[in-house]
Amino acid sequence: MTNEIKGLDNFMNDNLGISNKAIDKGMVLRIEKSSIHDGPGLRTVVFLKGCPLNCKWCSTPESQSFQVENGHSGSKVIKYGMEMTVEEVVKEIMKDSVFYFHSDGGMTLSGGEVLSQPDFAANILKECKRNGINTAIETSFYSNYENIEKVLPYLDHLFVDIKHMNSEEHKKWVGSDNNIILDNIKRADKSDCNFKIHVRVPIIPSINDEENNLTEVALFCKNLFKLEEIELLKYHRLGTDTYKKLGRNYELKNIESPTNEYMYKLAVYMKKIAPEINVKVDGKYVNV
Ligand code: SF4
Repeated sequence: MTNEIKGLDNFMNDNLGISNKAIDKGMVLRIEKSSIHDGPGLRTVVFLKGCPLNCKWCSTPESQSFQVENGHSGSKVIKYGMEMTVEEVVKEIMKDSVFYFHSDGGMTLSGGEVLSQPDFAANILKECKRNGINTAIETSFYSNYENIEKVLPYLDHLFVDIKHMNSEEHKKWVGSDNNIILDNIKRADKSDCNFKIHVRVPIIPSINDEENNLTEVALFCKNLFKLEEIELLKYHRLGTDTYKKLGRNYELKNIESPTNEYMYKLAVYMKKIAPEINVKVDGKYVNV
């Protein structure tokens, strides 16, 4: 594992484009307002650019590269990414502060991988907390733990994916095994910081929807003290157009989105495995 983490460091240093030491500036993909899917209430979501993983189903391929890149739609050129300062990002977030307070919402950092720019992310979160804004991150948790420790003190909600419990399968579909990720979840769960853990499982038919995998996710989550819920997310192909714009091939074009009924059935299955856990699907908790 040490080698993998070292490899990750090298990858980030080589590909980030901005050093981890450059705490005032970072690479942002875009900022979206009024989201209702990225944490409680109405939220502003700041998508950071750059991710060390390569999930075959990634719906935001434009978030993966650590550099600004151009997409092409006919004769139109679309620029993905921009460098912003912490101050510029927070100023944008604060514009909607009135909505956060009326909806119990806040700000969510998403990606790409937030933890690939740990100092930039920590400073945005810290400024939000200083302004009384509820904070969340959406992360793969594929990072050195020292990066994770930088953001935990400023977090209210941690949304972390478990994409596959089988390490070989994880490597095949995501580009790395899952050891670092699962270790990081266990370590963060034991931290003294006060935040809630939301485990998300993107359901990709024929890849990670077998009962064995869902059973293992439920059993893993049973041992987490800070767990708020497991949420099943429905696979969709909304990003396929962006792959075209980037001149990239989308490899899962033959996999269909699961039906709502199927998603509900899987959620009920998990709830039966671990009745004490809240299992959410389509925004609602299931009962058995
Ligand atoms: S971790 Fe997220 S951003 Fe990174 S490749 Fe996977 S789905 Fe895309």
